[in-house]
Amino acid sequence: MRIVDLSLGFSPGMPAYGASWYPSFELRPIMTPETDPVAQGRRFSQFLMNPHNATHVDAPSHFVPGAAAVNDLDPEVFIGPALVADLSHKGLREPISGADLEAAVGADISPGDRLLIRTDYLDRYWGDPDFWQNPPYLDASAADWCVAQGVRLVGLDCLTEEPGDRDFPVHRRLLTAGIPILEYIRNLGALKERRVWLYALPVLVEGAEGSPVRAVAVEGGGVHGAG
Ligand SMILES: [Zn+2]
Repeated sequence: MRIVDLSLGFSPGMPAYGASWYPSFELRPIMTPETDPVAQGRRFSQFLMNPHNATHVDAPSHFVPGAAAVNDLDPEVFIGPALVADLSHKGLREPISGADLEAAVGADISPGDRLLIRTDYLDRYWGDPDFWQNPPYLDASAADWCVAQGVRLVGLDCLTEEPGDRDFPVHRRLLTAGIPILEYIRNLGALKERRVWLYALPVLVEGAEGSPVRAVAVEGGGVHGAG
């Protein structure tokens, strides 16, 4: 068994999407050993966290009013067999289409699979000032393909939408179909197998449209059953 961490975590000073409403991550000490009122050397922290800033799940309620929030999603969605689609040949600002996904994994995908789309973009460009302007991205046909295949979860290491597209066709299609999106994963290039076992449970926050995830892939077959 081999565990590969797919997570981009939170850290003070990490890059944040450049919008006025988008707060930077903060790790705030609310008690330190020096301020512990009973002098027991304790430390307590509070996070100011926008889940969308690092590895996280988008629940349907992110875009679909009244749809499922994070706490409404079955944990089973986030644990199980996943297939890696290698699109690492895609260049900057290049769309990934349904035909691209079909060519990459069409012969192997089964209904209920989780699909992990690899471009290596986050691994290569996280921290770049143009990170949000230049990614490869899914186009609407890619979302339609995922829906038609019965994909249970879509994970990706590039951006979900074309930069600047304010209609958000990919989020709308996937989330309307009840397919959560696992965004800002990385390290897919470290996987040796294209069929892995995914663990990507979101932190349970009632009513939240998205939540942080520690995502790992397990390789090595057998130990988890055929799934
Ligand atoms: Zn998101």
